Amino acid sequence: MAGEPQADCLFCKIVAGEVPATIVRETETTVAFRDINPQAPTHILVIPKVHYANARELATAEPAIAGDVLREAGELAAEEKVDTTGYRIVFNTGPGAGQTIFHAHAHLLGGCDLQRLV
Ligand code: AMP
Ligand code: ZN
Repeated sequence: MAGEPQADCLFCKIVAGEVPATIVRETETTVAFRDINPQAPTHILVIPKVHYANARELATAEPAIAGDVLREAGELAAEEKVDTTGYRIVFNTGPGAGQTIFHAHAHLLGGCDLQRLV
């Protein structure tokens, strides 16, 4: 069923506590943890606890939870003190954009000079 945990999904396993992660914040609807292969001094992934393949599917089915993910990313930016220097929130969508894990997630990147792509 839409939103249900998927047995083969790494991020569902992190939500369930079956795979360890460096969790920095958790809410009723989201989990935030450090990326295992950080691309910036602050590199945190914010995920919904429910399983949707990407940001579009999440936002369509559960707009309030999509909002929770965005709010958490912003609050973490402040907590990590990258809000003053600037940060980026990225949702890679599709293999062509570099998405490798098909459970919606926001990358929060900050703490260095971020390469300008857009
Ligand atoms: P994406 O390429 O947008 O799908 O992002 C997936 C991200 O998950 C990558 O930046 C990976 O480094 C990260 N990642 C993969 N496995 C883990 C893990 N076990 N714990 C934390 N981050 C992970
Ligand atoms: Zn999942």
